[in-house]
Amino acid sequence: MQVTNLNPDPDIGASAWVVECDGHRLLLDAGTHPQREGRAGLPLYAQAGEAPMDAIALSHCHHDHVGSLPVAIRHFPSAHVFMTDLSYFLVERVLHNSVNVMLRQRAELGIKEYPLFSHEEVDDYAAVFQGIAYRKEVDWVSFPRGRRTTSPTLEFFDAGHTLGSAGIRVKGHRQTLFYSGDVCFHDQTLLRAARFDGVKADILILETTRGGRSLSPDFSREAEMARLGDAIEEVLAAKGSVLIPSFALGRTQEMLAELALWMKAGRWKPRPVHIGGLGRVFTEIYDLQAHRTHRSHPRLRLTEAVELKVLSPQELEHTKLTGGKIFVMTAGMMSENTGAHDLALRMVEDPRQAIFFVGYSAPDSPAGRLRECPPGKKFLFSQFGGELTRNCRVEAFDLTAHANREDLLEFVGQVDPRVVVLGHGDGPARSWFAEEIAQRWPQIRVHQPGPGETVAC
Ligand SMILES: [Zn+2]
Ligand SMILES: [Zn+2]
Repeated sequence: MQVTNLNPDPDIGASAWVVECDGHRLLLDAGTHPQREGRAGLPLYAQAGEAPMDAIALSHCHHDHVGSLPVAIRHFPSAHVFMTDLSYFLVERVLHNSVNVMLRQRAELGIKEYPLFSHEEVDDYAAVFQGIAYRKEVDWVSFPRGRRTTSPTLEFFDAGHTLGSAGIRVKGHRQTLFYSGDVCFHDQTLLRAARFDGVKADILILETTRGGRSLSPDFSREAEMARLGDAIEEVLAAKGSVLIPSFALGRTQEMLAELALWMKAGRWKPRPVHIGGLGRVFTEIYDLQAHRTHRSHPRLRLTEAVELKVLSPQELEHTKLTGGKIFVMTAGMMSENTGAHDLALRMVEDPRQAIFFVGYSAPDSPAGRLRECPPGKKFLFSQFGGELTRNCRVEAFDLTAHANREDLLEFVGQVDPRVVVLGHGDGPARSWFAEEIAQRWPQIRVHQPGPGETVAC
């Protein structure tokens, strides 16, 4: 097998891997880089070689994994497109939303390359998408009639990261590869931990998001969640508002579940939770697919348990921030042209307001810069928002949907591969894994291919 990394950035960036197996080619993920503008955020599709791509398989519906799918299909027009049957319900919404965001960015920031694809293309391409159940092995190469050859297969395993998320096993005639995607090995409030039990492979492509982060021995997710509950309670009691910047898919529903449980337990007076339109759509789909999801609180219907108020961009500019409101708004990194960005612009300089982070923020995102800024100091929020003085309360809570590094390392031991390819993490995160693996399993070859580099496995 051969593995080529098409991510244009050495860090998390945009996930896209070409796997060559038994003379056939498969693209794993087709992301976009959340912090780069225009074509610079695309995977290096031009470096994928001339040969046709037989298939594209998607790990999950976050932008850094699916955001450039229509561009990938344009490059590789004969590819079949596979995803889990749960992702199948989400992917078109994600892509149509991307078109809308790109159109806004073209209008407001003058980025002429946008949109990189159109609503019509999303509709046209959707006809070839195929949703596959977890643990169902399928062929991904189709041969001309009469040619009796067996195809390599692929199989999705529940990754516990967001609804529909998967690790992907690729089986060829001689070798097996496993791609972790984004994975969570611990239970979240709704989604249960990944089910990768029994997976063995010759080659493992591993996410390393939290490789640079050690957990203190007394850390518990429950205690961290309780700390968030206390903090929200304090802000609401003082009649301020709370913004929890969240991905529309996954993080939003996990937060709504926790808020629903707190309100049910009488922690504070029931009140609506303000969310964005896309978050609302995904929350409906979480509810509709609850019976097919490996999750806790299977009967908790978020749309019934919490009064959801969708805020339009116009309402965001005028809604009152006094009186104790809760906002769970896209995006987690508060990129420009998102609800979280526009709301934060109004909150950052007001000491009554609070912004609570519950996930990863890249250091060069508006969220990353706000998190780094000491109270009372000025910082550059964004191109559109300019410089702001940080007066609001800012806190971060470790409620990640990514596996902790120790759990990932244990998974390496389980898979027992010959080769590990490290990705989806920054330099220090990848180095930690490279060193630990070399120490514990010196026989494993570890690779960290840079943008456009190929590893022969
Ligand atoms: Zn993800
Ligand atoms: Zn990711």
